[in-house]
Amino acid sequence: MSSSVALRLPSIDGLLRHPACLPLAERYGREALLSGLRQLLDELRLSVLQGQLSAIEISPEVLAGRVGERLAQQQRSNVRRVFNLTGTVLHTNLGRALLPEEAIEAVQMAARYPLNLEFDLASGKRGDRDDLIEGLIRELTGAEAVTVVNNNAAAVLLTLNSLGARKESIISRGELIEIGGAFRIPDIMARAGVRLHEVGTTNRTHARDYEAAISPRSGLIMRVHASNYSIEGFTARVPTAELAELAHRHGLPLLEDLGSGSLLDLTRWGLPAEPTVRQALLEGADIVTFSGDKLLGGPQAGLIVGRKDLIAKIKKNPLKRALRVDKVTLAALEAVLGLYRDPDRLAERLPSLRLLTRPQAEILAQAERLLPALVQVIGEPWNVSAVEALGMIGSGSQPVARLPSAALCLRPQVSKRLRGRFLLNLEAALRNLPIPVLGRIDDDALWLDLRQLDDEAAWLAQLPQLQVES
Ligand SMILES: *Cc1c(COP(=O)(O)O)cnc(C)c1O
Repeated sequence: MSSSVALRLPSIDGLLRHPACLPLAERYGREALLSGLRQLLDELRLSVLQGQLSAIEISPEVLAGRVGERLAQQQRSNVRRVFNLTGTVLHTNLGRALLPEEAIEAVQMAARYPLNLEFDLASGKRGDRDDLIEGLIRELTGAEAVTVVNNNAAAVLLTLNSLGARKESIISRGELIEIGGAFRIPDIMARAGVRLHEVGTTNRTHARDYEAAISPRSGLIMRVHASNYSIEGFTARVPTAELAELAHRHGLPLLEDLGSGSLLDLTRWGLPAEPTVRQALLEGADIVTFSGDKLLGGPQAGLIVGRKDLIAKIKKNPLKRALRVDKVTLAALEAVLGLYRDPDRLAERLPSLRLLTRPQAEILAQAERLLPALVQVIGEPWNVSAVEALGMIGSGSQPVARLPSAALCLRPQVSKRLRGRFLLNLEAALRNLPIPVLGRIDDDALWLDLRQLDDEAAWLAQLPQLQVES
């Protein structure tokens, strides 16, 4: 459609001075506004020449509105809070453990002020950052010494390189695992400069298999907690105590990668049993490695604990310097470990444990309470119900165990052919909310597992903005 009156875009200068743009300059800065306006006008120029836009569409008010939206979009941070309603509590892709208030305060202090990171306040001399948590670790695990690195993958890499470089590490074929995100034991060993000596079979490895592999080339025996899978049926595994005895008889250290590495027996809270760090050390492991942000419930970190002489060797490795943790992590870690001194109140104070131990009846009651609000916004063709569901701990802890939970279950009442598309559209709409809501699709339905829904008010407040395409 051509028009007889040629429209002209407003000038940049005119727009910059226009009252509709002034608040944008105030909010985002003149530079950002200028480049936003330039970009928008460049995009519109051709359409204006071809007469495709109306006078309203290129009015200063409308242009200011469009630029304002873009600037707001640009300013929104990429790191965003989400609702994890997937049913997996320690979700690696969603940041794993949530920190307790005590750790959040410690993080703020460490971020805001100088601190004694590597400074011994008693002597006035240079200190060691690992010393900040060594006392607590000794008390909580019985270990002689500790060193902390960026994550458990780094802990395994550093330990293998420090204790086994150019030598062989003996490990059962049943423990050559891959953990999500490309962490594979054989690859880590290769990168650590350690030669892999695999023994036994996938399902059965005996003490005699390890024994036969020991030679002057051996550097250590390694045991890995099969975090994210389980071998059942006709299986055999050498108990840690027996393996430790065998290793020590041949002068080799036993390294145990516990993965999640719980500090306390979780069965006390009705959770599935996980081997504890103290137990592994008591049974004779010389070094135990585990994550800070899995069952421990703290910040991302890898803890290496065990024999003092071996820890000293690990700390001397130049790789330690490359893999060390920062002050913020250490501050959070110390605060979290401090909570373990009072196990009676741990489940109230440590968010991951509190969430893992929420009773199913309480979660189901919550689902029933929230059901009407969801029904109201979702409309046809959805059938919504509050139902029992099964969740997971996540992060490789207890892959087979399920946490009895409850969920809001959304089923599209459409033909089988259309169901997939409806579910994906709903999933996208939930993801588009100001605080994205992440559930899971399973069995032709979308499930919002409420185990982790703490902030009900924020969840309800944004619900009216849900817009599902059909
Ligand atoms: C999770 C896990 C790792 C990796 O730990 P990150 O802290 O994620 O680096 C290593 N080994 C085992 C057995 C694990 O379960």
